[in-house]
Amino acid sequence: EEEKESRRSKFAHATKVHPCYNEKLHHKIGRVHLPVAPKCNIACRFCRRSVGSECCEDRPAVASRIMKPSEVEEYMTETLKKMPNLKVVGIAGPGDSLFNKETFETFEIIDEKFPDLVKCLSTNGLLLPKYVKKIADLNIKTITTTVNAIDPEILKEIVDWVYYEKKTYKGIDGAKLLIKNQKEGIRKADQEGLVVKINTVLIPELNLNHVKDIAKEFEDIAYLQNVIPLIPMYKMDHLSKPTCEEISKVRDESEEHLQQFRACQQCRADAAGLLTEKEHLENKKGMKLNIY
Ligand code: SF4
Ligand code: SF4
Ligand code: SF4
Repeated sequence: EEEKESRRSKFAHATKVHPCYNEKLHHKIGRVHLPVAPKCNIACRFCRRSVGSECCEDRPAVASRIMKPSEVEEYMTETLKKMPNLKVVGIAGPGDSLFNKETFETFEIIDEKFPDLVKCLSTNGLLLPKYVKKIADLNIKTITTTVNAIDPEILKEIVDWVYYEKKTYKGIDGAKLLIKNQKEGIRKADQEGLVVKINTVLIPELNLNHVKDIAKEFEDIAYLQNVIPLIPMYKMDHLSKPTCEEISKVRDESEEHLQQFRACQQCRADAAGLLTEKEHLENKKGMKLNIY
């Protein structure tokens, strides 16, 4: 417990202004996503990988369109005028942030032109071992990695294939490779001083009793876990959505190992601004948020 407390204070600099890491900030601090990263290098069975898919909390995200790094400066200047509370700028897809060079170009622009904004990214973690140093050098302090299983027998039911260094790995081979890179990447990220949040999509038929194992695996190197309910779609459209009871049971079990984030309402890929109740309701109804 003491150790966990000291980890929390070590990371306070990065989490005190970030609404995805601090439930108290949800109604005070805004964040914006820049949808600059369209391609993905793995195939999650619940995700249609195109404009309209998403990697971080933003499922079922719909980025209205892909933004080019050259458009970012003007877009940010305009957005900051409208939203003085904006403190965090994230890249969360709609594909995998690390599989698109535009992500790095964009963060370089943000780092240079808007140095006061907190930079954040989410990734499936496949390329994390390769890029963790580069992420730290870009002054990114918080990263989210989606880990849906650390048992390859389970993960092979969630991810159809993994594309890595010009080769495609199917089934169990892909699952093993992804798990290996996620573990290595998250460990390295911790060593670089990055704050790591683990996102886990709760898929009752597949990982209901396994989420706590994920929490345990990363208890000493991650800061927070965010369990998000499956939205049954695409190749998982026949699976069930977790009930509220299942979600709270899984969060309670996992909390013994890793602090749980419970306020996430799953914003869209291009969501910007403050996350108020009203916006969440509109979000759920699939209406456009206040951008573009
Ligand atoms: Fe979709 Fe994210 Fe999975 Fe890629 S990693 S397939 S964007 S959910
Ligand atoms: Fe929040 Fe994830 Fe976006 Fe970061 S990338 S701002 S954690 S939703
Ligand atoms: Fe981040 Fe989820 Fe909160 Fe949106 S609702 S700011 S994605 S934690």
